[in-house]
Amino acid sequence: MYSRRDFTKLGLALAGTLSSTTLTAHATETTEERFEIMKTEAEWKQVLTPDQFNVLRKHGTERSGTSPLDKSYAAGFYNCAGCDLPLFSSDTKFDSGTGWPSFFQPLDKAIGTSVDKRLFSTRTEVHCSRCGGHLGHVFEDGPKPTGLRYCMNGVALKFVPKAAS
Ligand code: FE
Repeated sequence: MYSRRDFTKLGLALAGTLSSTTLTAHATETTEERFEIMKTEAEWKQVLTPDQFNVLRKHGTERSGTSPLDKSYAAGFYNCAGCDLPLFSSDTKFDSGTGWPSFFQPLDKAIGTSVDKRLFSTRTEVHCSRCGGHLGHVFEDGPKPTGLRYCMNGVALKFVPKAAS
């Protein structure tokens, strides 16, 4: 038989488990990764449009088909709209049919990824390696040679045409 003391011990153990679980979950969500470019929300609001802020800093998603960059295939680079770091080359852009600008490969060291458990599914979130700005997600149904589809929010990108030589 369990004594009252056993139940007390069990209760304490459970409470400990629960609080550490809660703390872990909380810590995961609020962990502030360090980036080369860090700004407060107020500072980001000063340099970004409301749509850019919503995507880059709040993990928002633009409405499919709304970005003029979706169907643009001019030669050049796609830079981060937050910090201007070149992220993708037009050489890796393709029409995914999703209504979002899509690429099969980022530039070297341009992006970082993390696990995104929003929307009841697990996806791989993609962000700028320099400012941490949210860009979109990467899926494993892209074309060769990588088989990856970097599904980007056009509003998080700034197209820089290749200089005419
Ligand atoms: Fe950036």
